[in-house]
Amino acid sequence: MALILQEPCKTCQGCGFVLSLAWKEWYAANPMATNFTTAPTEPEELRCVSCEGSRKVLTEDGKAVATLINSITTTQNHYRDSAAMRREEAASRRQWSLQDEMDNLRRTIEQERRDREDLEKKLKTRR
Ligand SMILES: [Zn+2]
Repeated sequence: MALILQEPCKTCQGCGFVLSLAWKEWYAANPMATNFTTAPTEPEELRCVSCEGSRKVLTEDGKAVATLINSITTTQNHYRDSAAMRREEAASRRQWSLQDEMDNLRRTIEQERRDREDLEKKLKTRR
């Protein structure tokens, strides 16, 4: 079974434009118009709001497919966003542990320097 996703727009009969209401009323009042001086100033044809000028609208099947695609896209975006968030958190944790390591190293160097100074003092007093 083939899915029919789109059909011609019924509002504009598939042409993408509709006669403006002002013009429709003016034509009704001037059925054999030859003098257009009293005609509306707005464009005679307006873009159809039902199909936004695309001439086609979604069928019920088309709406169902669009809804399905939207929900798949939303789910994909959600997973992609949460994966990106996890990567960022991991990178941030690595950054922090690197910082901790550096701090520890700095403390160790400082401690060793103090130990050496103490040792040198002791050696001096022994002489
Ligand atoms: Zn239309």
